[in-house]
This record gives sequence, C-alpha cells and structure tokens, in this order.
Amino acid sequence: VFLSFEGIDGSGKSTQARLLAEALRAQGRVVCLTREPGGSAGAEEIRRLVLEGEADRWSTETELLLFTAARRDHLEKTIRPALARDEVVISDRFADSSRIYQGLTRGDLRETVNRLHQLMIGVEPDLTVLIDIEPSMGLSRAVARAGTEMRFEGMGLGVQQKARDGFLALAAAHPARFRVIDGARAPQQVAADVLSAVLARL
Ligand code: C5P
Repeated sequence: VFLSFEGIDGSGKSTQARLLAEALRAQGRVVCLTREPGGSAGAEEIRRLVLEGEADRWSTETELLLFTAARRDHLEKTIRPALARDEVVISDRFADSSRIYQGLTRGDLRETVNRLHQLMIGVEPDLTVLIDIEPSMGLSRAVARAGTEMRFEGMGLGVQQKARDGFLALAAAHPARFRVIDGARAPQQVAADVLSAVLARL
C-alpha cells in the first residue's frame, strides 16, 4: 500500500507521517517511511541542489524537471522495491506537491506537471492524507522551526493561502484518493484521525 502526506509548510505532515509509521509498526506492519524531494540517494542529492541553492537559481520549469527526476529515482530505488516487498510505503509529499508548488504557486505549469507525471511517473498513492491548516498557523510553525531549508519557507501568507486552496481543490477533485484532516489540533489528536483513515483503507 502506498500512502502520501501533503500539506503546506508547517502543517505538521512530517510529524504525522512519523507518528503513523510508529503506530503501524507497533501493529507489526513493515513500514517504509520516506520523503520528497528525496527518499533515495540520488533524489536526496537533487534535493540539496534545489533547496540549498539561491532562491532564483533555477527557473520553475527547470525546478520541475529536477523534482521529476528526483521523483523518478525515488520511485525506482525506494518506493517500487518496498511495494514489491509488500511494505506500507509512507511518503512525506509526492506528486501533488509538484502540482501545487511548480504547477500553481511558483508558476502556471499545471498542464506540464500532469503531462510529465504521466510520462515519467505514472502512479498515484492509494491514499493521500492532506493535513489542512490555516496559512498563518503554518507560517508561524515553519518560522519557529527555522530549519536550514528556508529556501521555500517564509514565502508569505498569500502564497501559503494559494497553496492551501490548491491542495483543497485537488482533494475535492479526487475524493476517493484524498482524506482531508484538520491539522490545527494537538499532534496526538490529528494522529488518531490519520490512523483511522489509514486503517479503513488497509
Ligand atoms: O516537506 P518539506 O518541508 O521538507 O519540503 C521542503 C520544501 O520543498 C518545502 O518548502 C516545499 O514547499 C518545497 N517543495 C517544492 N516542490 C515540491 C516539493 C517540495 O517546492 N514538489
């Protein structure tokens, strides 16, 4: 089973992906917890190229090609082998992030994103958990975290709002694949909802 987590910066999706992996492992399942951009040696190198460079180093088109290359490597080296071993794959972001960030907020490339996806990736998660929060809350969490990868964070509320709306529209367009979960609560409460949504699918 292939599960993905999506959400704006500071939504708590990485925490939730980890909590879900812990809960499923506690039930004896074998879990492959991975992330994008990254998730394989080559894709992690591409992550560094994109996220640690200057903000205007790549055009949105080039960035899309780099993230698609990273996703292809992630799929070949990590996701497909884990699915073949019958593991539960949990990816912290997947192709929906490209639909939103390269397709919507940093460019108007939705059609290109989808065509490249069809050509080079071609798979969707069985279930995508969208952790939904107010942009102001996401931004303050992301700023509080102030990690090393501020390249995309601190984008401002308007951009975060556009990303949130985009994710919600994707979820509405694909109701069978998406579960939208209110992320503005204590992590353990959010995790309980995530776990029941996932167990209903397993
Ligand atoms: O999920 P995480 O916070 O590690 O993502 C790192 C950054 O990469 C985020 O700020 C996100 O906006 C950005 N990103 C992106 N395009 C993608 C995936 C992630 O711009 N396809």
